[in-house]
Amino acid sequence: MKNVLVIGGGASGMAAAYAAASSGASVTLIEKNEKLGKKVYITGKGRCNVTNACPKEEFIRNVVTNPRFLYGAYHRFSNEELTALLESAGCRLKTERGNRVFPVSDHASDVIRAFEKLLSGLGVKVLLRHELVSLETEEGAVTGADVRTPDGGTAFFPVDSVVLSTGGLSYPLTGSTGDGYRILKALGHEIVRPLPALVPLETLEDWTKTLPGLTLKNVTLTVRSGSKTLFSEFGEMLFTHFGVSGPIALSASSFITERLDRGERLPAEIDLKPALDPETLDRRLQREFSENGKKQLSNVLTALLPSSLIPAVLLSAGLDKEKTASVVSKEERKKLAETLKALPFTIVSTRGFAEAIITKGGVSVREVRPDTMESKRIRGLFIAGELLDVDALTGGFNLQAAWSTGYAAGKGAAGQ
Ligand SMILES: Cc1cc2nc3c(=O)[nH]c(=O)nc-3n(C[C@H](O)[C@H](O)[C@H](O)COP(=O)(O)OP(=O)(O)OC[C@H]3O[C@@H](n4cnc5c(N)ncnc54)[C@H](O)[C@@H]3O)c2cc1C
Repeated sequence: MKNVLVIGGGASGMAAAYAAASSGASVTLIEKNEKLGKKVYITGKGRCNVTNACPKEEFIRNVVTNPRFLYGAYHRFSNEELTALLESAGCRLKTERGNRVFPVSDHASDVIRAFEKLLSGLGVKVLLRHELVSLETEEGAVTGADVRTPDGGTAFFPVDSVVLSTGGLSYPLTGSTGDGYRILKALGHEIVRPLPALVPLETLEDWTKTLPGLTLKNVTLTVRSGSKTLFSEFGEMLFTHFGVSGPIALSASSFITERLDRGERLPAEIDLKPALDPETLDRRLQREFSENGKKQLSNVLTALLPSSLIPAVLLSAGLDKEKTASVVSKEERKKLAETLKALPFTIVSTRGFAEAIITKGGVSVREVRPDTMESKRIRGLFIAGELLDVDALTGGFNLQAAWSTGYAAGKGAAGQ
């Protein structure tokens, strides 16, 4: 019987421990926190968007970095297998808009409870407040782990194989403090620089920071670098006291975080009226202005825009908000229409790991076998979850990547 040590009791570690134990291995799961799945508790605003019920091709399309690497793991443990497993352990699931899957109870705690039940049913030994310090190797194979115990001492755990599932660097308060990167780097693995992704963005212009809480629905956000379009997507975003956030701003961050890290300032624009082409929009403005000729521009525009955004749009278009609609020239109207189609601002940085939903970068997938997640450098060492250089968009895809790679690693560690 293989003696498997799983390190890190988050999403991927719980899946790994389950997979290894269900293959007959003797499994110990160590977690440095006082409970399992501390990050899982806060996923999906406490509701846990466990996976996405879309077909495989769509799942892969939503993976931003190294999608092809995930094929093998996803094949071993897909969204359907996860769903069946959770339901078998008493966590009933429902599918919402965008194929997002949640517990029927809307409580992330039910997902953790289901895994705890599965693990205890298979006799997995769970050791909380136990922290991996280093891994021991001999002749290119892992032999054991040095672990800090709750009393402050250190214990050596001899192993046949190890699953390292210590997470990335995002939301470090949940326990993901990058320990795995340090340990794997020391063992010779290539680590792609970890960066915050799915993270709010800081902007340059003052006006963007004067509208905290303003949500824009049905707009298109575009981010460029020179003549290159880095990101363009329709959806919802919001302004904050530091810049922009909300679904499309978070998605944008995954495509621009490297450039921001290099110090680039990226021009962005919001199409406030994506459903109207410039000519139709101009005709609409013409009609509004002729029907409300005596009113000030800022009042006329309330028919088209949230009132708190009007000063910013007029400022950007170079128009006086007190001007009456009847005296707006054709050129001024054209400039206004252009601004409504492309309200410009500049993105200067991300909000960092403290507010990032995911870590981009991590262990290079070239160092890992895609079917079992075994390290190509150290035999018996399996790597899973956010630690890997794989990241996806929101919608349950990141957790599914953690469940799938964790499961594949657990099976691999058990010798299957
Ligand atoms: C606010 C927020 C909301 C999110 N919402 C969603 C969502 O709804 N859907 C979705 O798909 N994804 C979501 N994600 C992303 C998702 O949570 C992660 O992709 C996933 O948790 C990664 O799993 P993991 O097992 O790799 O890492 P983690 O879940 O971070 O687990 C790693 C574990 O290892 C432990 N550990 C670290 N170092 C050591 C050590 N030295 N010794 C022992 N233990 C250690 C940590 O304490 C931690 O418990 C969200 C993320 C955040 C931050």
